[in-house]
Amino acid sequence: MTDRNDELFDRAREVIPGGVNSPVRAYGSVGGTPRFLASARGATVTDAAGREFVDLVASWGPALLGHAHPEIVEVVQAAAARGLSFGAPTGAEVELASLIAERVAVGDAKPIEKVRLVSTGTEATMTAIRLARGVTGRDLLIKFAGHYHGHSDGLLAAAGSGVATLALPGSAGVPAPIAAQTLVLPYNDLDAVREAFALHGDRIAAVIVEAAAANMGVVAPLPGYNAALADIAHDNGALLIIDEVLTGFRVHPAGYWGLQAEAGEAFTPDLFTFGKVVGGGMPLAALGGRADVMDALAPLGPVYQAGTLSGNPLSVAAGIATLRLATPEVYARVDAAAAVVADALSSALTAEGVVHAVPRAGSLFGVAFLPDAPHDYATALTQDAWRYPPFFHAMLDAGVSLPPSVYEAWFLTAAHDEAALDRIVSALPAAARAAAS
Ligand code: PLP
Repeated sequence: MTDRNDELFDRAREVIPGGVNSPVRAYGSVGGTPRFLASARGATVTDAAGREFVDLVASWGPALLGHAHPEIVEVVQAAAARGLSFGAPTGAEVELASLIAERVAVGDAKPIEKVRLVSTGTEATMTAIRLARGVTGRDLLIKFAGHYHGHSDGLLAAAGSGVATLALPGSAGVPAPIAAQTLVLPYNDLDAVREAFALHGDRIAAVIVEAAAANMGVVAPLPGYNAALADIAHDNGALLIIDEVLTGFRVHPAGYWGLQAEAGEAFTPDLFTFGKVVGGGMPLAALGGRADVMDALAPLGPVYQAGTLSGNPLSVAAGIATLRLATPEVYARVDAAAAVVADALSSALTAEGVVHAVPRAGSLFGVAFLPDAPHDYATALTQDAWRYPPFFHAMLDAGVSLPPSVYEAWFLTAAHDEAALDRIVSALPAAARAAAS
């Protein structure tokens, strides 16, 4: 039976490559017709056929407080009435930059002295890398297999997210000399990092790492790993870029760095990148870090970066409201909701005898059809990924929208109340049965 989603998908494929504006949305790895969304509120989304789903995608992370939080909508409307885009500095940008710097602090550790606002996570990581190269005068970059840092040329080798979902080694269109500037190492393997520095130490500008990997499924760093990366990079005159686009302001008021620092694992990255939650659902991202490094950006320094829409007043208003509303109680709520769903997921799969793990990193979790949570990309790829499409569709049929790939994290929000959690938990047994068969 076709519905409005099918009609729209047919039309979309005529005018938009693959019918979507970002690849994973196409349901390529789970099959079927993507839901074309008409609206979203709180813990639910409503598709073009008028069907409501409890949502565990949260716009791929930003909706920490739930969709269309009334106070955020109100400030965005008020900002819109004052002007959609100025292309000039605003007082609100100063407020948001200060909020970011103030929040990323644990005890005396305040690693963010200066912040620049951009529009997407891709721009944030791309700029952080250019900055690292500019200040060190070196070209090479270390990234880890399965980590996704956006779609700039040098970062697509062995990337997670859609690149993992589509089983691509990288991307066509990236010139070989550019790809050759990125050394891709296995994650959670410090010997590989030491070896790379031993071989190329004086040419490595930076190590970029997801604060906790969440684009190959959720794969947390092993204890001490991020801190050791900082030490190795610094001992060799390179910078550490912690990519918190996904984890920042989502797993803790001070991001995954804050979660680790509070747990006694203190380390000092040179640069951080943020996106998603920091814009509260509007296009906004940021990079921040040491003042001496950040001041190498134009107009003060020689590293160029710019953006017509950078610091857009609607996005900045949404970002400020989101960070102000994201109190410790919000994180406690999201943590508790994540624990309910993660536990129910594991129980349902166990009841059906499905070999699985539910890897966690703070409130982020996902499913891996492996006996143990993977520590790296090579292991994550060995799972029974074929179990996910029937599982996904059974949940969708029961009115629960999951990320359409086994390699993505599930996102809870502060709006997932008891009723929403009940709907998820009661859908899981049938989905587990579908995964078992
Ligand atoms: N870095 C990480 C860790 C991400 O998860 C993403 C997006 O999912 C990005 C960077 C890129 O952000 P954007 O999609 O806003 O360009």
